[in-house]
Amino acid sequence: MPNTTIYHIDVNSAFLSWSADYFLREHMTDTDIRTIPAVIGGDESMRHGIVLAKSTSAKKFGVKTGEPLIRAREKCPGLKVFPPNHKLYTQRSREFITLLKSVAPKVEQYSIDEAFCDMSGTENLYGNLVDYADSLRERIYRELRFTVNIGVSVNKLLAKMASDFEKPDKTHTLFPEEIPAKMWPLPVRELFFVGKSTEKKLRTLGIRTIGDLAACDPALLSSHFHKQGLTIWNYANGRDLESVTGHDSANKGYSSETTLAADMTDPETAKIILLSLAETVAARIRADKAYISVVGVTLVTCEFEKYSHQKSLFSPTNITEEIYHTAVELFAQMWKKEPIRLIGLSTSKATSDQTYQYDLFHKDQYERLSKLNSALDSIRDKYGSGAVKRACFLKEED
Ligand SMILES: [Mg+2]
Repeated sequence: MPNTTIYHIDVNSAFLSWSADYFLREHMTDTDIRTIPAVIGGDESMRHGIVLAKSTSAKKFGVKTGEPLIRAREKCPGLKVFPPNHKLYTQRSREFITLLKSVAPKVEQYSIDEAFCDMSGTENLYGNLVDYADSLRERIYRELRFTVNIGVSVNKLLAKMASDFEKPDKTHTLFPEEIPAKMWPLPVRELFFVGKSTEKKLRTLGIRTIGDLAACDPALLSSHFHKQGLTIWNYANGRDLESVTGHDSANKGYSSETTLAADMTDPETAKIILLSLAETVAARIRADKAYISVVGVTLVTCEFEKYSHQKSLFSPTNITEEIYHTAVELFAQMWKKEPIRLIGLSTSKATSDQTYQYDLFHKDQYERLSKLNSALDSIRDKYGSGAVKRACFLKEED
């Protein structure tokens, strides 16, 4: 057994599965909608009514997540469409993460229905960690009534690739020695972060499978894809640079990012994501009693293009609102209205002393925000990070 063991845990058809359980519990249907051709879909009266989640039997008709509902209905006559219930999903997501935190030393939530767990060092507690992944899956089903896939490996990339193998309700391993058999035969588009245009370019270079990419000369990739060339080459060889960050260590600058489950094209959603990132980052800065004076925003498009903008602040800060407003300003300057896959918020030039010059906020406003922020931090310390949420997270959308 390797020293590091990472799980990637992914709820199967999360929205559909959470709604199915809700309908049964509330006696709204007799049928488990997981067992019939059904989807959760956005508002059909709007142009962008799309499939948000699908049942296994809808999948058999070729229904795909992200496609317009009209097309899904053509493929699958009699398809049942149910509206999303975001309040329910937030609640179920919280229960999922809480259960994981009760068993794993480090949990990093990756999206509403996915998380990484660093299980290293828990063998004495749980025994063989591949077997334990099966027990954990069973426990999640027993206590929360939905199924998950668990990918087990030595890093986040391989664990994530593994959880995406056959679904639903399965544990898969992808240890380094299994890469040639399990990962290299897959088409290159299945590699994390390879989008359609990258796939097309790779095909012109004769690269079709992840194995082709792994065997390729990294210099060739760099010349066609710049820095990203090396990243995807490392991925294809099973190398991942990140570890699970249960908590960030100090003095590195503070940053956080979110890879989105679906491409983001709407600035209001971007603002909510930036606020959530600003909350996370600013709380870490304050926990270290630090201040930062540079804020940066990074966007990665669905075509894998990455760009960043940053701005120096007039004075060092650790106030959520100030970091958030700067990030929104940067986002507005840089976003070219293309679909976004990843949003990152970074800060740098951390110091421990602060000479605040009250430019963005007046002195009393600053002091009020500062007090509010530390009050929120202590509530979160005591009751968990979900205890206090900004009003915009609580807004009901349906
Ligand atoms: Mg999922």
